[in-house]
This record gives sequence, C-alpha cells and structure tokens, in this order.
Amino acid sequence: MIVKRSWAHPRAIGLYRLYTVSHLSQWPGIHKPAWMKWIGSTRGARRYKIMHTLEGTILAGESLTPREGRVVIESNYIDAVETCETDSSKIIAPAFVNAHTHIGDSIAKEAAVGLGLEEAVAPPDSLKHNRLAAVEDTAAIQAMRQTARFMQQTGTTAFLDFRESGVDGTRLLREAASEIDIDAFIFGSGDPDVLQIADGYGASGANDAEFHTHRDAATEEAVPFAIHAGEPDASDIHPALDLNPDLLVHMIHVTEEHLERVSQLDIPVAVCPRANLVLDVGKPPIRKLRDHTEVALGTDNVMLNSPSMFREMAYTAKTFDVSDREVLQMATQAGAAAVGLNRGVIKPGKQAALCVFDGASDNLANAECPIRAIVRRAGPLDLERVIIWCSLSATETRGRRSHQCHSLETTPQ
Ligand SMILES: [Zn+2]
Repeated sequence: MIVKRSWAHPRAIGLYRLYTVSHLSQWPGIHKPAWMKWIGSTRGARRYKIMHTLEGTILAGESLTPREGRVVIESNYIDAVETCETDSSKIIAPAFVNAHTHIGDSIAKEAAVGLGLEEAVAPPDSLKHNRLAAVEDTAAIQAMRQTARFMQQTGTTAFLDFRESGVDGTRLLREAASEIDIDAFIFGSGDPDVLQIADGYGASGANDAEFHTHRDAATEEAVPFAIHAGEPDASDIHPALDLNPDLLVHMIHVTEEHLERVSQLDIPVAVCPRANLVLDVGKPPIRKLRDHTEVALGTDNVMLNSPSMFREMAYTAKTFDVSDREVLQMATQAGAAAVGLNRGVIKPGKQAALCVFDGASDNLANAECPIRAIVRRAGPLDLERVIIWCSLSATETRGRRSHQCHSLETTPQ
C-alpha cells in the first residue's frame, strides 16, 4: 500500500513514490498511463508494481550525453533508457549530490562575513563553534531541517555532511533530516563511538588532533573516513594522506608530490570553491585535481553560502579550467561515488534520483546546450520536479537508518 502524504512543493516538485496512481496521472511529465505490473498475490490481494516513464532530452550515462528519449522507472530504480522521438521540452538530469556541507551552522547565516578561516570556522574557539555551543537543540534541528528542505527543493537528493558536536550533533541532524525526503550521509565527529550512529567519520584536519584511532575505528566499522586538508596551507596534507582517508576535502594548496600520492592512493576530493572564495584561502586547482583523481562539488558551511548546487556549479564553470560537462559530473556522480551511493548517473540499475527541468521555461528557452544551460544558467524556477529515491527509511539499525527502498507496490481499488 502506498503511503500518501500531503507534502507537495508549491511548484509540484514531486515525490512520485509517495502518491497513488491517480495522482501520478495528473502530473505533467509523467507519461500516461503509469504502467502497473502484476507481481504476485499476498493473502488474496493482487500486488502490483508501478512503472512509469519520463520523456525529454536525457543526460544519460556517465558521459551525460544528451539524447532524446524516455527513462523507464520501476520500483524506484531506472529500468531502461530508451531512444525515441519526442516533442517534450523537458531536460532530465541526475539529481545533485552535494559532496560537502556543514548544515549545523545554518543557525549563523552570514555571521562570518569578513572573517578569515580561523575566526570563522576553525575549532574550538571560532564564531561558528561558539554559536553551535550556545544554540538550543530545537532551534538547531529547525534550522537544519529548513536547510535540508531547501536542498531538496533545489534538486539535491543526498548530501555529505560533516557534523560537529559528536554523538549529540549526529543525533540532531538525524532528527532534522528524518522529516525530509533527502539522504543525509553524516560524517560524525568527536569520539569514535559516534560511528555507532554516523555513516562515516569526518576529521577537522590533521593539524587539529591525532586521528589514527578514529581512522582505525572507521575501518573496523567499514564506513568511510574523510578529512579536511590543504585549506589554509599545505602543512596538513601529507599527515592527512598518511591516514589513507576515503575522501579529502578542499586540497587547495597541493603540490605535484601531493597529487602523485592522491593518485596512487586513489582518493576522491571534494572541492568547495565558493567557500574558499569567502574565506579568502585561495582557489582549488580543480583541473590538476581532476587529472589525478575524482573530484566532487560541495557547498561547505551554510553560514558562508547557500547550499545551492546551481550557484556552486555556475561559479565553478565560470571561474575554473573545467568543462561544463565536468562540472555537472562533479555535482552528481562524483559525490555519489565517493560514499558508494547508487545514483548520480542515468542508466539502468541506478536509483531514480532525477531532476526534471522545463527546457521551455523563460530562463532556459533557446538554450543551445542542455548541459551548459543547467550548469551556467538554471535555477530552482526551472525545476519542474525532483524525483527522489530515498534510500534511508525510518527503520533504525544501530541508530543508523537502514538502506531500504520504499515499495511502490499497491493493491488496486
Ligand atoms: Zn568542511
């Protein structure tokens, strides 16, 4: 039986998995009819899966090659990507995966304008940490929940968050994200025990503390260990690499020697160009990084910038020596691959986490290239729908939500 919710974005950004067939057929862009496939009987009730299609220009595969056709979705997964003629002006792209956030500081937006890295965000005495220590739990949850909702409404279906404040901080983010259909992949902090409820460990930086026991704990729990490195200078890069992390964040001040080690160790990097600009710590060498490893895009602290992947992509494309296609790959598949999420690419077998753009919107009409249009120009007003594959159900496993797919099975009336 399908759970029906009253939540709906004012512009009908949709959660197809939550609605009945009758709802589906009323929504533009859902090819009619939604197919119902009989999959068996349970206690005399016939059970069906819903299959439906989206038509338009599809940015398919890892290469994001635009092609006219349809995406067939079955039970929250992409079943097929078919080429066909269509008069649809929709552009179907993978949904965004924000590869680095700190949404805990949603309570202090723009509070650090004019401050440097140390004063703004460095532990333990920065403005950010003072604000985090002072905030009430309910206010913190409310602020993070609003940020999660904003990310969802702007095309992001998963984000990789460095959560401060140890076990308590991770619990607050879990609670905040629980009411939003978005996957919060939480890198916890503090004592290694945080890994009992976090999805991975996020270290502030190798110059801040000794993290070998935390690295070992992450290995033991089979979860990723991520760490900031090379943000203010190069001094913490080799020590960070000595920890053999699963994800590096920033890597602005890298040398050829660092890049060789990153390549040999095959460690992906999350870059946050707008945050680096605000804190005046330099620009990440994205071209060089891309030539040595996978690079993903993140928006970093919410106190510094809005967590809009549209803004991050546009700034990156117009500032750095990377193609628009590479920027869109960084904003979708690279973040997903960094932590093993089965999304970010439109091809059979992947989770159906998709952005459906109105290619005929006032903003996007007459765009020469759909990739350029999305990366350089598009915004939330051009998003007709976000198709959300929410892998994290409410089921608790060791305090961590288990990866379960919500079913689209239903009993017809
Ligand atoms: Zn960070």
